[in-house]
Amino acid sequence: MRKLIDKLEKDKKLSYDEWKSLLEYGFKECREGKALPLFDNDSLLAYASEKARNIRLCVFGNKVYIRGLIEYTNFCKNDCYYCGLRLGNREVKRYRLDKETILKCCEAGYELGFKTFVLQGGEDPYFTAEKMEEIIRVIKEKYPDCALTLSVGEKDMETYKLWKNAGADRYLLRHETADKEHYEKLHPKDMSFDNRMECLKNLKELGFQTGCGLMVGSPYQDIDCIVKDMKFIEKLQPEMVGIGPFLPQHSTPFRDKNAGGLEETLFILSLVRIMLPSVLLPSTTALGTVKEGGRELGILCGANVVMPNLSPLDYRESYQLYDNKICMGDEAAESIKSLSKNMAKIGYEVVRDRGDSPKMKLQ
Ligand code: SAM
Repeated sequence: MRKLIDKLEKDKKLSYDEWKSLLEYGFKECREGKALPLFDNDSLLAYASEKARNIRLCVFGNKVYIRGLIEYTNFCKNDCYYCGLRLGNREVKRYRLDKETILKCCEAGYELGFKTFVLQGGEDPYFTAEKMEEIIRVIKEKYPDCALTLSVGEKDMETYKLWKNAGADRYLLRHETADKEHYEKLHPKDMSFDNRMECLKNLKELGFQTGCGLMVGSPYQDIDCIVKDMKFIEKLQPEMVGIGPFLPQHSTPFRDKNAGGLEETLFILSLVRIMLPSVLLPSTTALGTVKEGGRELGILCGANVVMPNLSPLDYRESYQLYDNKICMGDEAAESIKSLSKNMAKIGYEVVRDRGDSPKMKLQ
């Protein structure tokens, strides 16, 4: 199996069957508890994570990029079965931040050294293409040295173009799963796998630094789903990949489903780093939620980005994609301080750079 990891490092791709053997074997070890603690064993995860760590050190050094996350609306027209923001969740107190509040979040973040802001939200029809365009323009005018990432779901090509022209730099749209049948088990009938894929293609075509991604251990996911995810990532060549464990949320149809595993998520992170050496790879809040110190482990497995929350504290409670989300009450200043300290402990440095994809510099 190690040979397959070596092959992935060399060729940056594997065949379907090779991916399947590698993932099956690695996941079996994870289930059997052979993969942790991370450094102290001869598991595939330990082998992959060491390679991933070395590759990220070659490309990015020990830098950890920070992104200021602004969760600007929790209204959503979609009913994804896994997500706490889903339309059908009557328990959630809905909110939207107005332009002034969003700008205040940016201002606070900028003072703390953030050079990337991420506007994330449910698919909220209130924020029309034009309203968003205006918000993007104002942010980019006020902070021309900062990058702006959008994570607002599926839109048509015209809308994406408008936002790109307004100055948005990056777009995160997790594909969630590259298996159509699996997609249909995670989403209601009015959501379309083909459209999600089309959106990612369009974002790439428009020149966004584009992020896809998945939840590890989402309900009904099997090894073939993950093989397809890896083949899809291999083909799309995204600049960013968002990977975190699935975590149940108490007022969704998946409330009783099992959470995704820490080790499995770390294994996938490492394999993605080996396949795409220059990818921007967040160590997600979900990873830190599944285990204390999970985000540090993510960094040790090849991740190079963290996304502290800049949203106003009053609204954090209402942005619960899943239960027990960490950092709900942490002021941005506090969280950046403790993050820097924790990263320093494992030999990494939180930096104030924009942290663009190295691929952009080559263009
Ligand atoms: N609405 C936008 C979209 O669809 O891309 C962005 C916001 S959406 C809430 C961001 C991501 O959160 C989703 O792509 C999904 O992968 C993740 N997410 C939602 N519910 C989750 C859960 N229960 N556990 C882990 N991740 C979850």
